[in-house]
Parts: sequence; structure tokens; C-alpha cells
Amino acid sequence: MIIFPIERFQGLRTPFYYYDTELLRRTLDVLGEQTARYGYQVHYAVKANANPHILSLIARKGLGADCVSGGEVQAALEAGFPADRIFFAGVGKADWEIRLGLEHGIGCFNVESPAELRVIDELAAALGRTAPVALRINPNVDAHTHAKITTGLEENKFGITSGMLPGVLAVMADMKHVRFLGIHFHIGSQITDLSVFRNLCLRAGELQDDLEALGLSVAHLNFGGGLGIDYHHPDRFPVPDFENYFSVFRQSVKPRPGQQFHFELGRSIVGQCGTLIAKALYVKEGETKKFAVLDAGFTELIRPAMYDAYHYIENLTSNEPPETYDVVGPICESSDVFAKGRKLNRVRRNDLIAIRSAGAYGEAMASQYNCRRLPEAFFPDLPLE
Ligand SMILES: *Cc1c(COP(=O)(O)O)cnc(C)c1O
Repeated sequence: MIIFPIERFQGLRTPFYYYDTELLRRTLDVLGEQTARYGYQVHYAVKANANPHILSLIARKGLGADCVSGGEVQAALEAGFPADRIFFAGVGKADWEIRLGLEHGIGCFNVESPAELRVIDELAAALGRTAPVALRINPNVDAHTHAKITTGLEENKFGITSGMLPGVLAVMADMKHVRFLGIHFHIGSQITDLSVFRNLCLRAGELQDDLEALGLSVAHLNFGGGLGIDYHHPDRFPVPDFENYFSVFRQSVKPRPGQQFHFELGRSIVGQCGTLIAKALYVKEGETKKFAVLDAGFTELIRPAMYDAYHYIENLTSNEPPETYDVVGPICESSDVFAKGRKLNRVRRNDLIAIRSAGAYGEAMASQYNCRRLPEAFFPDLPLE
């Protein structure tokens, strides 16, 4: 349960992100215990939240970093992640981004097309280096999640499909500046049905048999990220069930001797520790409903507008009986709605409203649309920047 230090919020400019670092540490400790059991390696998906304090806290706990841009590689290096534990994925890597990774000697490039593989080989040759690569496979496994966060179906832009694979392997066989490490998958995000991961394991097992039959050894199996969190009950199980998650992989794929299993978790690590704190500006009485108008909008948290996402919302400063509101922001777009028909303790001007489970894809996706200021972050155990 997150206890909000409301007295310390007085005088802070809203909206801002509040991060419960205690919960983040606890989450990382549980994650560490579970991965240590099996020798699994986790690379934190930087795109979920690239706040420098969060990155350095995660780096100090010994995780690697999964990056999807040169900027993220840079941020991970600055936060103290060792270069060889930085993995670089993404369907479109610019030359400078590939060079940056090569120059720093990052651990792996997750390659998504034969065209990209050729560019990496050329750039590595020019720098006199060898690029460690894994092939990102699109396994055509349905993640049973929102369409905008599904990535592992053949209709998605991501990864190498089974039809493309023989061509890629043929191209790779002649390359002198790439070293094949293994295969990578990432089939989607906010996955709560663990049978999805079991299906992924079956596909990974088949694929590695096929590759071995061709004489390739698969040193790394990287299953990506995607484990979901409970947005409806943020305080019920604030630490995700990592034990059950990893046991699926343990039960469903038999590791080869010396083989490493990698995971790239983002949301499940940082999702519950972050809360967007907003102020109620007014209550607007419409014809048929009441609108609680906040000073935060989709510029601070875009998930409801972009993915129809649900976030639990509470009024931190009211004990009055609940009323029903549409909770909306000030942005000049009809999609700037956090929730419709939501019960909140009676809202009055200047109440502090908490939008929970906003640690992942919240601050990281903030924008300055409408010339707004980017939100600040408040950590209870750190001085305010
Ligand atoms: C976004 C992403 C992840 C993390 O996904 P979560 O759902 O936040 O765990 C992992 N790997 C890749 C390649 C990604 O693009």
C-alpha cells in the first residue's frame, strides 16, 4: 500500500510524478530473488521510464538495460549500466545509433531485418569491430492484449517472420563482422494471461531445434518483456507475481548447457511505484454529468487517450461521500479524458487527485503539446531537482 506524504506535497507545482522508491526497491528485490533461483538475466526496458534517478537505482541493483534508441543507450550508460549489459532493439536503427552501440561495445543488437543486418555488418567492418547480434523473431503468437501494444503477430512491423528467416540466415552466413548470439522475441505488453508466454516458449523451442539442425548454436534465448500489472487494484499486489511468470519459462523450455535466458521487463518493474498527482481545478456541472477538471492531461499521462487504458484514481484530500465524475484534463482535445463515470470522494477545488499505476509509460511519454511544461518528479528520499 502506498502512503502518500500529502503534507510534503504542499507548495509543489502540480501536476507531478510521485515515485515510491521503497516500492521500487522491494519490487527489484523480489525480482532479484526469483531470477537468482534460475540464473536468468533481466534487462530493464528503459522506454518504460527513463527518469535518471529510476535508471540509476535499477542499475545499482545489477540489472542490464534494454534500449530502443541511441538516446536510451546514452541514458543507460550515464546511469551506470555496464555497456556489455546494454541490449539494443528496435525496428529502425539509424547509422549513428548503431555506431554508438559499436563504439561502446554494447552486449547485443537485436536485429529485425536482413537490411538492418547488412548495415550493422558494414558499420562494424568500418570500425574494425564485430557486432554481437540476436535475431528478433516474430513468432506469430497472439498476446491477447490491446491491439496497439501487440507486437508478435505477422501483421505487425516487428521482427523477422518464419518466412524471412532462411534468407536472413543465408545472408548472415557470409558476414564477417557479426557474431550470432541467439534469438529474441517480444510479443507485446500488459500481458496478464500467462498461457501466452507458454505459447511463446513452445515456438522458441521449435525454432531453436530448427536452428540447431542448421548447425547454429543458440547461446541466448531472449523472451522480451510484457508482463502486465493490476491497474484496477494497485495496492492489492503491488509487486507483480514474478515467481509464477518465471516458472512458466522454467517449465516450458529446456535450456541447453551454458545457455542464457534473458528477459526485458519494463512495466512490471516500474508501473506501480509511480503516481501522477494532479490538482482539481473546478467541478463543472454538465447537462447530464459532472466533470472533475484536473490540471493534468494527456500531456502528462497519455495511456487513457492512446490505449483506452484504465487507471485507478483517488481523491487524496477528501473524506466526503463519493460522487460520480468524468475525470478530464485541460488539453484541447476530446480524447483528454482519464476516466468516465468514476466514483471519487466528493471533489472540491484544489483537492489532490492521484492517478495510480503511472510509473510505466507515463512520464516517459509526456509531451509539451499546448506549450505545456513537462512534469517534474518527486522522490520522497531525494532532494527536488
Ligand atoms: C517495450 C519493450 C519491452 C518492455 O515491455 P514491457 O511490457 O514494458 O515489459 C521489452 N522489449 C522490447 C524490445 C520492447 O520494445
